[in-house]
Amino acid sequence: MKDSFGREITYLRLSVTDLCNLRCRYCMPKEGVCLRRHEEMLTEEEMTDAVTVAAELGIRKVRITGGEPLVKKNILSICKNISHVPGIEEVCLTTNGTLLSNMAADLKAAGIQRINISIDTLNEEKYSEITRGGRLKDALCGIEAALNAGFEKVKLNTVLIGGFNDDEIKALAELTREKDLDVRFIELMPMLSDSGFGEDAFIPVGTVKEKLPEVIFLGRDGVAELMKLPGAKGNIGLISPISCRFCASCNRLRLTADGKIKPCLHSPLEYDIKGLKREQMKDKMKQAILAKPESYGKLSYADRSCAGRTMDRIGG
Ligand code: SAM
Ligand code: SF4
Repeated sequence: MKDSFGREITYLRLSVTDLCNLRCRYCMPKEGVCLRRHEEMLTEEEMTDAVTVAAELGIRKVRITGGEPLVKKNILSICKNISHVPGIEEVCLTTNGTLLSNMAADLKAAGIQRINISIDTLNEEKYSEITRGGRLKDALCGIEAALNAGFEKVKLNTVLIGGFNDDEIKALAELTREKDLDVRFIELMPMLSDSGFGEDAFIPVGTVKEKLPEVIFLGRDGVAELMKLPGAKGNIGLISPISCRFCASCNRLRLTADGKIKPCLHSPLEYDIKGLKREQMKDKMKQAILAKPESYGKLSYADRSCAGRTMDRIGG
């Protein structure tokens, strides 16, 4: 289905839980999220129903996200259900990777085709600092497990943070030489006021090009500008929600774990589908698509996102 600005909406990001085993400083408040009552959250059946009606409206790709999707007990069954929905051609998952080492093969068998793993540093202490207590080793084991499980694509997502990991751009990019994976650098989005990051933390992804003068440009792939180190196995992607927004070609819809359809990441607009039957869900989803804003407002250190939720409660 097309939105009011002629954009074909084909991609749904489905958050299966608000909960997470990490507390990344730019994503979640230090104290974590308020525990919600079970009845407030979408059931597995409601998630499948929502994806079914989304597919009837033209959604072809679903990305499962969170919070951390791998802390969800029934994650394999959710993945299996969604991958069997008629019309859905691609099911992907975004994870912090720390629980992946024992689950990668099962996720592949449950229908996950591509996997994105978030990792912002290759330094143990810095990893623990940015995630407020996570262990780098767990994420690295998760990456190895994903590479061995035979997904169509493994991508690493790195949020670029000035003064924190801009000195690791080269080391992270070099991973694409040794391993069959892509690395994507993403601009930090101003979601939280207490992240502890000042204005200097927001650096444009163009910094990556300055640090890697040898890269070969490959053009665009969806929201990412693609490039490659000479002779590397994988690509490098730059995603720039702040310095060069991609609203004109946005094909996304988001569904939160508590059943709110968000037509735009940085808009407070939400459409509640919790407790609805399929046909009612479909009407709400149509309303959400038609209400998708043309673009979001200014974003900067001073102009924070109007999303009305932190990223862990949206799904990124
Ligand atoms: N827990 C999973 C993970 O970390 O990959 C999935 C959920 S997480 C909210 C999805 C993505 O959002 C991650 O790649 C994370 O780095 C990114 N993210 C969270 N907060 C962000 C922010 N303020 N700016 C840019 N990216 C952010
Ligand atoms: Fe958890 Fe992912 Fe947010 Fe980090 S980015 S706190 S891993 S949801």
